[in-house]
Amino acid sequence: MQTLETPKTPKIISQPDFDTTIHRRKTRPVKVGNITIGGGFPVVVQSMINEDTLDIEGSVAAIRRLHEIGCEIVRVTVPSMGHAKALATIKEKLAQVYQPVPLVADVHHNGLNIALEVAKHVDKVRINPGLYVFEKPRATRTEYSQEEFEKIGDKIRQTLEPLVISLRDQGKAMRIGVNHGSLAERMLFTYGDTPEGMVESALEFIHICESLDFYNLIVSLKASRVPVMLAAYRLMVKRMDELGMDYPLHLGVTEAGDGEYGRIKSTAGIGTLLAEGIGDTIRVSLTEAPEKEIPVCYSILQALGLRKTMVEYVACPSCGRTLFNLEEVLHQVREATKHLTGLDIAVMGCIVNGPGEMADADYGYVGKQAGYIALYRGREEIKRVHEEQGVEELINLIKADGRWVDPSSVGS
Ligand code: SF4
Repeated sequence: MQTLETPKTPKIISQPDFDTTIHRRKTRPVKVGNITIGGGFPVVVQSMINEDTLDIEGSVAAIRRLHEIGCEIVRVTVPSMGHAKALATIKEKLAQVYQPVPLVADVHHNGLNIALEVAKHVDKVRINPGLYVFEKPRATRTEYSQEEFEKIGDKIRQTLEPLVISLRDQGKAMRIGVNHGSLAERMLFTYGDTPEGMVESALEFIHICESLDFYNLIVSLKASRVPVMLAAYRLMVKRMDELGMDYPLHLGVTEAGDGEYGRIKSTAGIGTLLAEGIGDTIRVSLTEAPEKEIPVCYSILQALGLRKTMVEYVACPSCGRTLFNLEEVLHQVREATKHLTGLDIAVMGCIVNGPGEMADADYGYVGKQAGYIALYRGREEIKRVHEEQGVEELINLIKADGRWVDPSSVGS
């Protein structure tokens, strides 16, 4: 049964007692082309094209499309040597017809030669420890001996070494991308199908890289179930702290699906970790066109105050006190001001609670009395105008403050 707490006398806490900043975990900076992941740089947005890299024109167009809408690093997949070689032409064409774009290539299992080829053309190579040296699982197996475990460990080292050396000598990066769904059998037997198995899998690869003086690493521990993903990243941070490692983390929820639930699931996983200060780059994986992923990434970052890429709108949910059609006015205000990146604008239904709940917005549009609204600059009421002139007068106020930008000059 739920019990009620005795109400306490409310205490007004002064502003300096609150710390509303997200304290990001300190990580080393890792360069991927002209973008830096970690090292206190803004959280980087990534996505992946679906095109076959043998389709050069299609791939160049898809990479460009993503980059133009804010995807800062674009991933491609290279299942064969032909696909890896095609990246040389893709990179060249991008530079010719557009501009260089930081590229990451996913390398599939047992693909050392492919990895070595693609490492020449991209800025980062992503490997999956569970598949890099692929051992077919044995259905009849009941245990995994230490000897067998180490034997495969040696094979991993031998296979990884040339790639690590190549990336190290070119000053490029590697993502050690563990996936819960593809943990190696030896990890499953040793640590179970657990976040611990995921973390140990990443650490094994990190140790090999470090033994070769290669530290341009980014780590991911994705899972399709949010609680598993959260536990894996948190454990990874704990283990890295214990080991004195400061590698940046790439966050994502795999197979998040599509639509509203796919977005909510991704936000639950990625947003929770970011709020804890964990994460240096993100990808929202939706079963939709990759272009749809970018606005979700930016919305998560904006909501947490980690990046400001659009106007922050504060609007009350409306209630019996609302003095105008809030949904419609919010839409009008948004349409008129959405290009003013950096501003916070509030639209509040009434004067009773509106001004106090505007969350320190730069400007406020507040219902004053039937047919009239009040315009605010910060906490100060500037003027009362008829509802019909509300949006126009809001724009005039922003203009008078010298904070207006002509929409046609944005993005050109
Ligand atoms: S600000 Fe006013 S209109 Fe909006 S929800 Fe609060 S009380 Fe209702």
